[in-house]
Amino acid sequence: WQLKLADQQTLITVGMALSEKLADILPELSGHRVLLLTDDHVAPLHLARVKQQLETLAAVTPVIVSAGEATKNLNEVEKLYQILVDNQFNRTDYLVALGGGVIGDLGALVASTYMRGISLIQLPTTVVAQSDSSIGGKTAVDFSRLKNLIGTFYPAQKVIVDPKFLQTLPQHELAAGLVEVIKSLLISAHQPEDANLLHELETELKAHSQLPLSLLSVLVTRGLQIKSNLVTQDFYDFKERRYLNFGHTIGHAVEALADGQLRHGEAVSIGMVAMMTALVAHHELSQSVLDLTRSILKQLEVPTEIPSTFSHQAILAKTKLDKKANDQGIELVLLHDIGQPALKRVALTDFQDWLGWS
Ligand code: NAD
Ligand code: ZN
Repeated sequence: WQLKLADQQTLITVGMALSEKLADILPELSGHRVLLLTDDHVAPLHLARVKQQLETLAAVTPVIVSAGEATKNLNEVEKLYQILVDNQFNRTDYLVALGGGVIGDLGALVASTYMRGISLIQLPTTVVAQSDSSIGGKTAVDFSRLKNLIGTFYPAQKVIVDPKFLQTLPQHELAAGLVEVIKSLLISAHQPEDANLLHELETELKAHSQLPLSLLSVLVTRGLQIKSNLVTQDFYDFKERRYLNFGHTIGHAVEALADGQLRHGEAVSIGMVAMMTALVAHHELSQSVLDLTRSILKQLEVPTEIPSTFSHQAILAKTKLDKKANDQGIELVLLHDIGQPALKRVALTDFQDWLGWS
């Protein structure tokens, strides 16, 4: 199967084993220079094959950076500019980002700023990158210990999603990545398909510990469709795109307190369950939606409860620092049923009362 959809200027192509047909999919590279950026976990698994195909079209300069969030910094950006200059890259040349969200965000920032922008192709290799970070045009590096502080809006020209890359992804990365897909299914307006997909996922996880690649592809595709739709409606993040922040108010706070010990998806899992528990307590969400969500997350072996060492006070103090917080309070994403999210701005003290954390 294969599908194409367009968000802003990006052409997204999804298909099994697409990364084995790159010469056919990327004819525009012909005769140009390509900086092929990847990290040192992905390089031994996938670089040679990708490089070989691109070399049939273009002059390829492979660059391997260290895997991990620490690589998303301005120092790396500068090193990449230098490589582009040294190899005489000009405005008609390309940057291809082969990897997870770290490589995608870093590569996109470099592509968006070098000579005021060169063409960017994303070849995402994680669930996070395939379903989320490679689309939507947000580029970023971290600065002064603040995540994603420096960045631009710059959509990729093409995003090529090959679910086969996920076969080599470690289980905990896969599970953490699926949390945000589950979140997207919960907030999506496409009933009943997305609700059915959640039930299918629960059934499958109960039967087999490992998800078949076919279901994984469907999940990633649905995740990226939902994100792409929301981003198209709201590129600059004023309304619909903010539904994607479901579970993130508490999630971000827990992630910050964990200081690197929790993956983003794991923190969002905790954040979603905390919000849904409060919504159920206020009769704003049915118990069955919470039970279904928690069951899936537990089968995936991602955490669902706030670590006992984190006090409610410490979590609330962190939410005050949230990017979406201002003098009028913090913006919450609520969920009243599968496919029925809502935005609400509340004072921090009211949020505390509502959570029953007083
Ligand atoms: P990541 O890029 O660090 O990848 C996770 C790990 O998996 C790394 O160790 C990586 O080397 C390894 N890996 C990648 N692909 C692999 C494969 N196919 N096989 C084996 N190992 C593989 O992290 P991520 O979870 O993909 O992305 C997280 C980053 O994405 C964060 O920096 C976050 O800020 C960013 N992000 C950006 C957006 C956006 O809109 N731009 C959205 C979400 C997340
Ligand atoms: Zn997130």
